[in-house]
Amino acid sequence: MSNPTSVGASPSEAPEELNPFLIAQRQADDAARYLPELDPGLIEFLKKPDRLLTIEFPITTSSGEVKNFIAYRAVHNRARGPGKGGIRYHPEVTADEVRALASWMTWKCAVVDVPFGGAKGGVICNPKELSDEDIRHLTRRFTAELGEAIGPYTDIPAPDVGTGPATMAILYDTYEMMHKGSNNLGVVTGKPVHIGGSLGRVEATGRGGLNVTQRALERGVLEGTKDLKGMTVVIQGFGNVGGVAATLFHEAGAKVIAVSDSGGGIHDRDGIDPAVAHEHKRETGSVSGLEGCEAVSGDELLTLECDILIPAALENQIRADNVDDIKTRLVVELANGPTTPDAAAELQRRQIVVLPDILANAGGVTVSYFEWVQNNENEQWDEQVVNEKLAEKMRRATDAVLQKHEEICGTLDQIRARRKALRRGEESIEPPDLRMAAFVVAVERVARVTLDRGIWP
Ligand code: NAD
Repeated sequence: MSNPTSVGASPSEAPEELNPFLIAQRQADDAARYLPELDPGLIEFLKKPDRLLTIEFPITTSSGEVKNFIAYRAVHNRARGPGKGGIRYHPEVTADEVRALASWMTWKCAVVDVPFGGAKGGVICNPKELSDEDIRHLTRRFTAELGEAIGPYTDIPAPDVGTGPATMAILYDTYEMMHKGSNNLGVVTGKPVHIGGSLGRVEATGRGGLNVTQRALERGVLEGTKDLKGMTVVIQGFGNVGGVAATLFHEAGAKVIAVSDSGGGIHDRDGIDPAVAHEHKRETGSVSGLEGCEAVSGDELLTLECDILIPAALENQIRADNVDDIKTRLVVELANGPTTPDAAAELQRRQIVVLPDILANAGGVTVSYFEWVQNNENEQWDEQVVNEKLAEKMRRATDAVLQKHEEICGTLDQIRARRKALRRGEESIEPPDLRMAAFVVAVERVARVTLDRGIWP
């Protein structure tokens, strides 16, 4: 095992591991301890990506210079179906980040039970410093370099940080130019609706997060709170995922009291109207500076007192060094990998419930799956149909995770009793969190398909 720390280790005992791929492997290892019947060799296989492509290519920029880029595409596992996962354009993309994101995609697709495996891609670049024409050249060249590595039945990209429907339209067009004469719409999801995209896809990750939160509250994960009415919400990241979540949680009766993006954060205890924040962002490029709100730094935002904290930006935001200052009751992980294992252990010890990324943000890939089905069937479903199907998938996934959690550590009442015993010193081991349950569901499902298909030859 490559991770240097152990589950529940005190943050002071060892330097914290921040490599996302090692974190992802550790999470799978931890889950495997609840699946003792699985062969250790199988677990080793399931922890590693099937392949990682590294591509280096140039483009001529709109200012006439030649610029070189490094890009990655990882396929983690395709036991349950074609690889599926977004493409990130960000200056801090690394091979290990892409590998981690690909493996989380495998587990996420299994939790939400869509017939895909896990994949992910990334280009080391700062899209804010590139013109639209540069981004078009970069996307076309990257897609051409990927060649036959992607395809509607092999590996299907989607948007992630720094990319969106417009990028997916270019990716689709490039692939289509190289594969004329067949229906290639299913090669990529998250396309604009008028180019084969699904209604509801842009909102799907935020909406799925709302569905999961509502179901988990209904099922009693927070003692004494059954719905979102009046709950205060803080959101880090006001992009596709966080911006939509702000609107939907607000519409569901919660009060959004702080939001941030890479330009800064804003806070108003009386509540921020997300529509006004969106308008301000459209006009100025950031939520920062919205009239009537107090400015907060990124660090301060995470530590504001609230009922629900939603990290919706990047990995490793809640860590050993800031977890003690987190003052929330519930963390809804809409970003991938926002909480480190050490921080997660501390949140669990403090009885702060975490709805883990591989469940909470799985709405995006779920509607990507719906888009792929519509593309293959030449259909366009009404938005209401998409949202209803999404809500049902997210409800089932939440129930499966809660059910597994109960199998592992008893009912919520039994856990509360166990916790009291822990405080009295009669118990020594903290019950596992919902992330563990979600990983056990996922690893079990992927392992089962792998074994039932048989390891080739
Ligand atoms: P995006 O590029 O649309 O938005 C990212 C937002 O985060 C931007 O507002 C950016 O300014 C902000 N940001 C970046 N660094 C920040 C920081 N340090 N503090 C505060 N804000 C910061 O990307 P997105 O698609 O919304 O993705 C956000 C997260 O959700 C990522 O972790 C991504 O992997 C995950 N996710 C996305 C999808 C999807 O469908 N797009 C699906 C599942 C998970």
